[in-house]
Amino acid sequence: MSDIRNPDSHVASAGSRTRKTASRAIAPVRNFMLESAYPAFCEGLAVVGRPLLLSRAEDMTSQTATRSCLILAPHPDDETLGCGATIMRKLAAGTPVQVVIAADGRHWYQSGKLSFDVLNEIREQEARRACTILGLPCENITFLRFEDCRLADHRGLLRDRLFDIFDTMNPEEIFVSSIIDNHPDHRVLAELGRELAQARRDRFPVLYEYPIWFWDPRILRVARLLELRPQIVRTEEFRTRKREAIAAYRSQVTNSIDETRRAPLRRGFLRQFLQAEEIFFEISRDNSSRRLKEPGSV
Ligand SMILES: [Zn+2]
Repeated sequence: MSDIRNPDSHVASAGSRTRKTASRAIAPVRNFMLESAYPAFCEGLAVVGRPLLLSRAEDMTSQTATRSCLILAPHPDDETLGCGATIMRKLAAGTPVQVVIAADGRHWYQSGKLSFDVLNEIREQEARRACTILGLPCENITFLRFEDCRLADHRGLLRDRLFDIFDTMNPEEIFVSSIIDNHPDHRVLAELGRELAQARRDRFPVLYEYPIWFWDPRILRVARLLELRPQIVRTEEFRTRKREAIAAYRSQVTNSIDETRRAPLRRGFLRQFLQAEEIFFEISRDNSSRRLKEPGSV
């Protein structure tokens, strides 16, 4: 309805109608760009960029197998995608492994039917199943259950929990998501991983970051890539079981709920985690103590 006190209101209404019509017209294009074209571009970047990283990577497969470790995952599935074969290799060597999953994953899908509690339970059950396939006992997984996408709001509490878990376990290595990942939770956990390694430097934990939402030009810069010190762990005989563990995250890799149009994680995205090696970036103590740069800066 137009406003009779404003003689220009009919013009404004006509303008707003035109904008709405235009917005409706471009919606399919925008959806295509967001849901298909841009993710496909990032996947292509991974196909090109991964071999470049590998060309200057060091192989730490044998050294890492016997070092106890704490795996910090922002969400259920990151531990398996980023470190699945490394976890299996350590367990095969009888090395202690603990996994901590910081957020609950409740926002993986905006369901019209399922509550947050149900969505959470689905993700946790999948994490237990995936870790069982990796050979990790369920008692070695800690779910901290902070709200998905809101880790920054709980930074202090999260830091305290991570320090407590580290002090109880005293691992030789910490694995955490990459600070360059294009996901706020992944970056917050990476920052806390660096704080933790720095604060406990007298105990010499080696800190590694693993890439997940990494090949994204909105965050990634060539200069940052060149700063990284890539290391690999060969997946070899553990690759098939890693594939099975990833498949245990049914809600993420299939269209498991009637309401969804497609699986949240695309096949092209998953492909980078099923390769002959897992990639890690060793973070030097200098880097851990340095004031962290803003995401996107070089
Ligand atoms: Zn994640």
